[in-house]
Amino acid sequence: MRIAILSRSKNLYSTKRLKEAGEARGHEVDIIDTLHCYMDITSSKPTVRFKGEQLPHYDAIIPRIGASITFYGTAVVRQFEMMGSFCVNESVAISRSRDKLRSMQLLSRKGIGLPRTGFAHSPDNIKDLIKNVGGAPVVIKLLEGTQGIGVVLAESNKAAESVIEAFMGIKSNILVQEFIEEAGGSDIRCFVVGNKVVAAIKRQGQEGEFRSNLHRGGSAEVVRISSEERATAVSAAKIMGLNVCGVDLLRSKNGPVVMEVNSSPGLEGIETASKKDVASLIFEFIEKNARPNNNKTKGTG
Ligand code: ADP
Ligand code: MG
Repeated sequence: MRIAILSRSKNLYSTKRLKEAGEARGHEVDIIDTLHCYMDITSSKPTVRFKGEQLPHYDAIIPRIGASITFYGTAVVRQFEMMGSFCVNESVAISRSRDKLRSMQLLSRKGIGLPRTGFAHSPDNIKDLIKNVGGAPVVIKLLEGTQGIGVVLAESNKAAESVIEAFMGIKSNILVQEFIEEAGGSDIRCFVVGNKVVAAIKRQGQEGEFRSNLHRGGSAEVVRISSEERATAVSAAKIMGLNVCGVDLLRSKNGPVVMEVNSSPGLEGIETASKKDVASLIFEFIEKNARPNNNKTKGTG
């Protein structure tokens, strides 16, 4: 098959591994810089152009769309959908998962375990917002944050109020969440391909750090997950409409709770810790599912 990886750089671990795995399985794999694609959407025959030339037809597209380019990146993915290419994650599902508020609303409707969470823009009663999720300690997040930046633990109600006021001052959307202390600074990343968890790792934050993000110095090790955790991850992926994603869970005293669902999960941490060839499993999925115009909007909302 002719397959394109949409990625900002061919030197990223995940991009390199995907190209290598695809070629090893006999596919022709191109890496295309998403932001340098431009689109012809006026004609009846939609096309994507790159460096002065029309791109060939691709049987499948693997979108690796970073959080900072969601708007343009999803437009490029959508254009490939218009052209009938099979996109591993469709544009609507990527946009949906990038919005933490939208994601949590959709997951809550289907009864997926979530930390008690409040969302606000300009709350008139900050004390009530905090009280509503159980009071301090609470986690306060910027809606657009990623890699652990913009995630703050407020240990007292007073601290929580000040942080919320500060975020309100910069006109940000805020998320206030029950602190899952028993997770002990760790979370579980379940890597989902199709309707299976193909690998799972436990990420542990550095000593004294409640955020487990590898970008914040966390470490990863392979972990056995329970059937409840497996089922939660698979359902969350299905609700978001993502075929390939990383579902992050916290182990709470009431069972697994979903933190977020990542539509372009990195391969380095998961492949290194689990010693699994996740990249090849993504191609296996493509081989089974790529048919022209086989992107239909799944998930809801
Ligand atoms: P980001 O998108 O920046 O990664 P997350 O919501 O995933 O933001 O939070 C980053 C990390 O902080 C999580 O991986 C987790 O370890 C920790 N964390 C976030 N929210 C909570 C919470 N409610 N309780 C306990 N730990 C949390
Ligand atoms: Mg995270």
